[in-house]
Amino acid sequence: MNRRALLSLALALFVVTPASVWVQQAGYPIEIIPPGKGPFTFPAGYQTPWDRIQIKVTAKMSPNLFVLHGSEALDPAHPDASGGRVMVLFGPDGVLMVDTENRQVADKTLQAIRAFTTAPIKVVVNTHIHGDHTGANAFFARQGGLIFAQENLRAEMVRPPRRADGQPAPAPDMAAVPTVTYNYDAAAPGRPAVTLIMNGETVDFIPMMPSHTAGDTIVRFRNANVIYIEDFYRNFGYPFADQANGGSIKGMLDAIDLIEKLADPKTTLVPGHGTLVKRQDLLPYRAMLVDILAKVKALRDQGKTLKDVLAANLTAAYDKTTLGDTQQSKDRFITEVYDEVKDFPGIVDGKRTMPAYP
Ligand SMILES: [Zn+2]
Repeated sequence: MNRRALLSLALALFVVTPASVWVQQAGYPIEIIPPGKGPFTFPAGYQTPWDRIQIKVTAKMSPNLFVLHGSEALDPAHPDASGGRVMVLFGPDGVLMVDTENRQVADKTLQAIRAFTTAPIKVVVNTHIHGDHTGANAFFARQGGLIFAQENLRAEMVRPPRRADGQPAPAPDMAAVPTVTYNYDAAAPGRPAVTLIMNGETVDFIPMMPSHTAGDTIVRFRNANVIYIEDFYRNFGYPFADQANGGSIKGMLDAIDLIEKLADPKTTLVPGHGTLVKRQDLLPYRAMLVDILAKVKALRDQGKTLKDVLAANLTAAYDKTTLGDTQQSKDRFITEVYDEVKDFPGIVDGKRTMPAYP
């Protein structure tokens, strides 16, 4: 076979099996823009300037699996990098997105995607309900995305918990609500509810036990050896279990233990916020959860009030090594643990009715 014939054979193969060009390659992941480290401070009354926030490709997990994230130092909810990370798998089979970012930056998120692919938006999976992960759902549904999530997430969205001031929550935007749902099966933790084979990747949507919320999903990209682990782990600020939406600190321990089984030592774990990590990085975080749970339980068993427990400054030993350590972040964490160690309300429709403190 002459050289020309070989070339046309190669081209024919390329056309017939375009996905075969997208296989894991050495040299990945490539981190382009790491999140900021701070410390960040914002004046009283500061409002997020959404018009100044940019959405950029901050990491490449494989030649066709990119991570998008927002600017640092502008968004007080996530000063290290605005919003929740979005992952984009692209190629001839279309675009699959993990999460949709804040509503206010929907156009910019789409523009960031259009900078590297013209493929149609096909599939969106939501890792949990928070606005920095689902805020642009309606926008990307209009682009053609079919939205997948746990049934509990859908329930949280359709019947949102009352606001902190006791007022009913605003009516949901039905265009943002996931259309394909599945459930967590306690008898088979780690079993994918959905597996998609597209663009040379095999993508698993793995429903999680109630952990960050009651509707969490992690997303595994088998060829790239990457798992998007959303927010039950964080390394900027203290842990956040959204108990009103069914989350729990103990569930976060179970989630970490499941990752220990699903990941190998080389797997890149992509949290919703903070730095990219490996399996071993979850262990000190797990140990901190166990330690604080035990200490808060001991104090609560002695009849201490929440105020007493907050005043005990139980996170002191961790403040030096916890980036984004703020009084608000640690108080929220300790309050969650205090609620959880005694009389913890059960989950109804993906939600809990949490006690209110005057
Ligand atoms: Zn979250």
